[in-house]
Amino acid sequence: GPRQVRGALFTWVRPEMQKEPELLAVSPAAMRDLGLSQSEAETDEFKNVMVGNKILGWDPDALSGPGYPWAQCYGGFQFGDWAGQLGDGRAISLFEATNPQTGRRYEVQLKGAGLTPYSRFADGKAVLRSSIREFLVSEALNALGIPTTRALAISLLPHSRVRRERIEPGAIVVRYAETWLRFGTFDLLRARGDRILIRRLATYVAEDVFGGWENLPARLDDPDDPSKTPNPSRNIPRDTVQGPPGSEENRFARLYREIVRRSALTVAKWQAYGFMNGVLNTDNTSVYGLSMDYGPFAFMDVFDPAYTPNHDDYMLRYSYRNQPTIIWWNLVRLGEALGELLGAGSTVDTDDFITQGPTEATAPSLVALGEKLINAAGAEYKAVFLAEYKRLFAARLGLRTQQPTDFDTLYSPLLDTLEALSLDFNHFFRRLSTLPLAAISTPESRLAEASRFFYQDQNQDAGSSDQSGRQRVANWLAAWRERVVQDWGTLEDWGSSSSSSPDSSGAVSDKADAERMAAMKRVNPSFVPRGWILDEVIRRVEQDGERDVLKRALHMALYPFE
Ligand code: AMP
Ligand code: MG
Ligand code: MG
Repeated sequence: GPRQVRGALFTWVRPEMQKEPELLAVSPAAMRDLGLSQSEAETDEFKNVMVGNKILGWDPDALSGPGYPWAQCYGGFQFGDWAGQLGDGRAISLFEATNPQTGRRYEVQLKGAGLTPYSRFADGKAVLRSSIREFLVSEALNALGIPTTRALAISLLPHSRVRRERIEPGAIVVRYAETWLRFGTFDLLRARGDRILIRRLATYVAEDVFGGWENLPARLDDPDDPSKTPNPSRNIPRDTVQGPPGSEENRFARLYREIVRRSALTVAKWQAYGFMNGVLNTDNTSVYGLSMDYGPFAFMDVFDPAYTPNHDDYMLRYSYRNQPTIIWWNLVRLGEALGELLGAGSTVDTDDFITQGPTEATAPSLVALGEKLINAAGAEYKAVFLAEYKRLFAARLGLRTQQPTDFDTLYSPLLDTLEALSLDFNHFFRRLSTLPLAAISTPESRLAEASRFFYQDQNQDAGSSDQSGRQRVANWLAAWRERVVQDWGTLEDWGSSSSSSPDSSGAVSDKADAERMAAMKRVNPSFVPRGWILDEVIRRVEQDGERDVLKRALHMALYPFE
């Protein structure tokens, strides 16, 4: 039965040996980011490491210790309810590796390599179908600029037979991340009441994962704090939120805020690109703000904010429109796990507090202060989310500036139009990226160009009955065109000797418009791994024995803007 672990967050465990594994594909981008050269993927040693047949740097006489693989222990709230101890039921970490060029450190692990103490009543295996999905989407999200765990390689286990709805072939994906710690890791310690480990884990996250306390955001109630983060985007809406009055944020509160901010940035990117995880339980929510755990994920096809790719999610808890709220819900659980630490700073010396624990008298006030800090972080979450979402939306629409009216005059009307007309979300932005302004300068031309955003069968429907759908798109194009002219109309052709003011008729030079289209193509993918594409790749690899199709799909995932 399930093993309950106390006083630790992992167990040493060796992957199963695999017979005649077949390395199906390796991500060149993941090799590069790990600091490996492509030729290293050609060796037999590499192929054996990729399925756990060879363990690097492990002394075979030892049964634990440095170099020995491990599985992590964590808990989680699943669909809103506490689910108790979970853990890596089919993931086994092999080692940490630091890219010598970038200094970035990753924890490399196998998924589907066999039973662990946390497998509970399942088999520790992964099927080829879900492995192909994870392999491709990890690399696709990364190429889109969305923080994610990475996929290095995928191997087929030809002798394995895994029982799901049917018998399916097994596979192993090698994946890596800056950390595999999740909110659920903290949830588990909170449930165990292990405040010493909570503090050690929080300290580890700050010092080892984020690289030091000095990398965390400055205190909210101290705007002159010189310890500003090096990444300016993290500080954008800093002024718009304030710490709780009279509180002194301690370093754990700043750690919490860093996790809040990273989470907000990642969710904003999901929303801007129409990505849905499908199972945003706290055990699937990364403390590093990574997209992770790829189950029934999907990219939005026709725009439907109520869509969820998870067929069991009848409450639509993890639907597209709920993702920002649910990640905040998860962050509140994390804040509660950190609650005593967050509140400790102003009233108690943190080290004494941890060794002695809160007294009957101090505990309630610490938790109350923690709550105040969580509320303040909520305002920050909203501000960071909105700033990033608007930034990406502006970029996807080819705008160089952001105007306060853009949300109401452009973004909302576009989303309403996509939804009302069942238009494809990512397709729309890509098509807009290839539309010259000169082609939509008159109402008639806008109506004609509007059809490029409809699928062919939608166009046939529209042609036979009424044109109101296309008219609606044409009206939006008129508003969009005005904004693009506002942003790009002042750019002069370097070679031209015309007057220095923008054309009064609202034209944009061909050169500036070409630049605008090129900029849009750099942020609006021509390829996203949609469900039906993944289904086709899976079918062709699994049933038809094709191999090349997987590599070609990977290539598209790695170069989505081409
Ligand atoms: P998920 O819904 O993917 O987040 O999985 C929830 C928990 O179930 C995690 O702790 C997984 O490790 C575990 N799990 C899922 N599938 C398996 C499997 N085939 N074998 C062992 N554990 C599994
Ligand atoms: Mg999971
Ligand atoms: Mg999973």
